[in-house]
Amino acid sequence: MTFSDLGLSADLLRAIDAQGYTTPTPIQRQAIPAVLQGGDLLASAQTGTGKTAGFTLPMLQRLSGGQRPAKRGVRALVLTPTRELAAQVGESVRDYGRHLPLTSHVIFGGVGQQPQVDAIRPGLDILVATPGRLLDLHQQGHVDLSRVEILVLDEADRMLDMGFIHDIKKVLKLLPEKRQNLLFSATFSNEIQALANKLLDAPTLIEVARRNTTAETVDQAIYRVDREKKRDLLAHLISAHRWYQVLVFTRTKHGANRLAEHLGKQDIPAMAIHGNKSQSARTRALSAFKSGELQVLVATDIAARGLDIDELPHVVNFELPNVAEDYVHRIGRTGRAGNDGQAVSLVCVDEHGLLRNIERLIKRDLEKHIEPGFEPDPNAKPEPIENGRGNRGGGRGRNGGGGGKPQQAQGGRGSDDGQRPSRRRRRGGQGRQQA
Ligand code: AMP
Repeated sequence: MTFSDLGLSADLLRAIDAQGYTTPTPIQRQAIPAVLQGGDLLASAQTGTGKTAGFTLPMLQRLSGGQRPAKRGVRALVLTPTRELAAQVGESVRDYGRHLPLTSHVIFGGVGQQPQVDAIRPGLDILVATPGRLLDLHQQGHVDLSRVEILVLDEADRMLDMGFIHDIKKVLKLLPEKRQNLLFSATFSNEIQALANKLLDAPTLIEVARRNTTAETVDQAIYRVDREKKRDLLAHLISAHRWYQVLVFTRTKHGANRLAEHLGKQDIPAMAIHGNKSQSARTRALSAFKSGELQVLVATDIAARGLDIDELPHVVNFELPNVAEDYVHRIGRTGRAGNDGQAVSLVCVDEHGLLRNIERLIKRDLEKHIEPGFEPDPNAKPEPIENGRGNRGGGRGRNGGGGGKPQQAQGGRGSDDGQRPSRRRRRGGQGRQQA
């Protein structure tokens, strides 16, 4: 099966060729014909499956046949949870649409709005946006969503986790009744199902990877280690195995900063990205990491969501996530689109319960290692995972806050940068980390 078998136009085939893709991925094989037919779509697909091209290619083709957008109007709207994902989807739209006369722009919070307003004024074929900034601009009269032909909700589960449900509902009210809806989600909670029921009309259902499975191409290993020795073990593993491009996950922003600093002191170039960093600092760190200049990028879950780094060889869970599904998301950063990757988790005695939850979720036992010189103390007592404990600044909070402070609900209108805390978190419930 090739891309031309899927009914895509010559202009799109040329662009796909330029990307070096030869064979459509399973989600592309199913999604492209379905979207071209104009119906709604409900796709269970994780990042790394090629889902972005799966909706972008047929969307571009459908739009290329139609009328120009109206002033301030938008023909296709793609909503994403984070600015990084928005930027990436925007990049895909530009790459795949390079031979088509379609206009697109990406908007998100945390940066000046004027260039966004200027870009929307003449009307756009495709607008990629995070929900808060979009509503902001709409409220100010800068964008008209009344003629949207195609709506895409990308990583809808993460949008709900981040507390965007009310914003999404507000956006839906601004759209015309008749339109094509595409909903992508890595997991299917009851909340997602409810949203799908409300939004979609007789959707085509696509499920490519079984829910909560991890990619076969990722080699996953657990290193048992004492909590105080984690950072030295990490430095040791990076040096001993000459890992040259490593994405490391920590639970908290503070923990990310401390770890990057520690690695730097060991002559391992490292930077942290999280929601407290400015957009330009995040972009700089990411591009240095992608280009290979920066050996280690330390990130919190939300900051890392949507990062698309091709052939990322190593992902390290410095701390296991509180929410087992996040493990699947994290290691989805490696071994992407068929490349081999290695995911290593450093697990101390406090985290055995979290590890069991993960193994239950992915339905397999992970291989356990002990690195000579870093043998864990067999008599170590587990301690509760709570704020400001353990690895000094790790702040491994069940409430997710950095530095032991309680979580602040942040983000009113206008502060949308994809960092809004979830309702669950505000209630102090499940402790999903705010990046
Ligand atoms: P996504 O799941 O959309 O984040 O895509 C994951 C990665 O796979 C991206 O780096 C894409 O550039 C790449 N990709 C998408 N489609 C294909 C394909 N058909 N063949 C090879 N790589 C692809």
